[in-house]
Amino acid sequence: MEADSSLPLRAGATHLVFGEGSSDAALYFLGEAPGQAEDAQGRPFVGQAGRLLTRLLEGSGLRREEVYLSNLVRFRPPHNRPPTSAEIAAFSPYVDEELSILQPVLIVTLGRLATKKFLPREKMTQVHGTLKTVTWQGKPVHIFPVYHPAAALRNPQIRLALAEDFKKIPSLLGELLHPQKD
Ligand code: URA
Repeated sequence: MEADSSLPLRAGATHLVFGEGSSDAALYFLGEAPGQAEDAQGRPFVGQAGRLLTRLLEGSGLRREEVYLSNLVRFRPPHNRPPTSAEIAAFSPYVDEELSILQPVLIVTLGRLATKKFLPREKMTQVHGTLKTVTWQGKPVHIFPVYHPAAALRNPQIRLALAEDFKKIPSLLGELLHPQKD
């Protein structure tokens, strides 16, 4: 796919890293930006953080191929710095388009910046592992914020919290797909 030449970060990147996964995915994972491995291969979440994410998915009984993995920005920022607000804003129509096509049941936001897209005032320490419903593009969407796997690689406590939050995903998805009437 050819990227719009006006998009930021293009000059320093090797590959455009598009979202990847099932077009029927009920679960949509939104990360931050491609890193070195993703830039080299042109695929999201294939480096160290991606391997942790894949293991966490498998631990929850999910396969990578049945979910959808995406990022706020689609080119690697220099030296893996976090994307700026302007860069995130430039790529946001692509994320929104993906969401309106896929209509996922649950959006799992990985880390502070992805969470901020939907929940601009919430703090990760308070909001991670809790289900939130917000109006997005005129429709209610379910958001489940978790810590970013890259942060979990650096901090054992975050890794534990991330693993605990991931354990909640299957039942949460089940409840959203088949709500119990009381
Ligand atoms: N971190 C992200 O946020 N996205 C990737 O694709 C890889 C690492």
